[in-house]
Amino acid sequence: MAIMTNQASTLERQAAQEYVNKVYEAVVKRNPNEAEFHQAAKEIFDSLVPIFAKYPKYIEHNILERIAEPERMITFRVPWVDDNGKVQVNRGFRVQFNSAIGPYKGGLRFHPSVNTSIIKFLGFEQIFKNSLTGLPIGGGKGGSDFDPKGKSDGEVMRFTQSFMTELYRHIGPDVDVPAGDIGVGAREIGYLFGQYKKIRGAYEAGVLTGKAPIYGGSPTRPEATGYGTVYFVEEMLADKGLSFKDSTVVVSGSGNVSIYAIEKAYQLGAKVVACSDSNGYVYDRNGINLDTVKRLKEVERKRISDYVLEHPEAEYYEGCTGIWKIPCDIALPCATQNEIDEASAQTLIENGVKAIGEGANMPSTLEAIDLFLENRVLFGPAKAANAGGVAVSALEMSQNSMRMSWTFDEVDAKLQDIMKNIYRNSIKAAEEFGHPDNLVIGANIAGFTKVADAMIAQGVI
Ligand code: NDP
Repeated sequence: MAIMTNQASTLERQAAQEYVNKVYEAVVKRNPNEAEFHQAAKEIFDSLVPIFAKYPKYIEHNILERIAEPERMITFRVPWVDDNGKVQVNRGFRVQFNSAIGPYKGGLRFHPSVNTSIIKFLGFEQIFKNSLTGLPIGGGKGGSDFDPKGKSDGEVMRFTQSFMTELYRHIGPDVDVPAGDIGVGAREIGYLFGQYKKIRGAYEAGVLTGKAPIYGGSPTRPEATGYGTVYFVEEMLADKGLSFKDSTVVVSGSGNVSIYAIEKAYQLGAKVVACSDSNGYVYDRNGINLDTVKRLKEVERKRISDYVLEHPEAEYYEGCTGIWKIPCDIALPCATQNEIDEASAQTLIENGVKAIGEGANMPSTLEAIDLFLENRVLFGPAKAANAGGVAVSALEMSQNSMRMSWTFDEVDAKLQDIMKNIYRNSIKAAEEFGHPDNLVIGANIAGFTKVADAMIAQGVI
């Protein structure tokens, strides 16, 4: 990514770039075989050069090297018994990355691909995202290489109980507050909360977010990430005189984030023509029927290929990347990391895409991001665009502390305000540091400043 600023001298820029390169090399050396963590670090480090050039105090305090080293990384054994009476073993993770501005906060991911690198990339991103929300939450993330797919309810419950039997000693409403992510939805959060409550012998509602509203969850939390992504893109579009109305939208995935991104895009007058799962994608020129997707994925836990059984006019294709060949005005990658590579980005651009909103975490490769920016496609990076989920999680913590509950409309209004502020603060930082419209640089700088200043204020700890 080309870094330029009109705010600092050439010498200051050189010194900042050299500092960033040196720390990046050290991070790669200290964390070998962690490709995803290196990728997240590279994106953030490079975009911070303008702020280091302008404010050398961050270099003097060696903030970058400190912030890239987690405060704590916990791994643990998770033994459980399957339905055939056989003992299975998975590995659990929790990274407590940064607590400068609040208790660690970030989701749990249950997926066979989970390893140290994935958890650290997610945790590192979370620090800046959480800061961007303007709410007092630090950065953390966790999960396990357990695969919930094809498991019975009983197996999922026994696994999550075993997971919490170790995790409980590391978390708490003022310490570390996990939530959901891939493979961890309302069912898993319910089992996790039940086990925590039983072990602690206390009703500490604020220890987990994403709970069902009947026992302390916030209205709008299920919708928050998907809705928030669309609210963010709406701001980006409005700034250029565009909108969702009458636009064609492609959304990858068909999980929590995707479903509510589709719902809000429809509410704003768009037509969503495609969605996917990890096996393939459906293309419905008439517009995806969201009721069918919700039932198939949220209730029946089936594959997206079943969609065409009920909607024979739609087409189903095996594989995940083909979805980006469908012409669209707005693309919302909401499935997983690195799902848009350089070739897919090129195809989207050739087909005239106007805006990208990252609902998933790090769904675009570094090369894809560069292409979008070079071609002046409006690009909403994940840590800004998908921050609505963790923002409403923080609102859930507030409601738990106050022992009260806001209405759906109240939380939705707060979510809209938060997404607008994230957009404005990111665009302002991008302009201030000489990169107008570059929300990657803007979001990273806006998220970084508060955390870095809090770290300096709290001394070398
Ligand atoms: P879910 O588990 O609810 O859904 C994930 C969806 O993505 C599923 O439809 C899954 O398909 C699909 N998927 C997984 N891998 C691929 C792939 N390679 N290609 C296409 N589809 C794929 O997870 P969430 O919706 O919660 O999370 C999605 C993304 O959003 C993640 O990157 C997560 O980190 C991020 N995120 C989530 C937040 C939240 O509040 N939930 C907050 C902020 C970010 P299948 O059913 O086959 O597994």
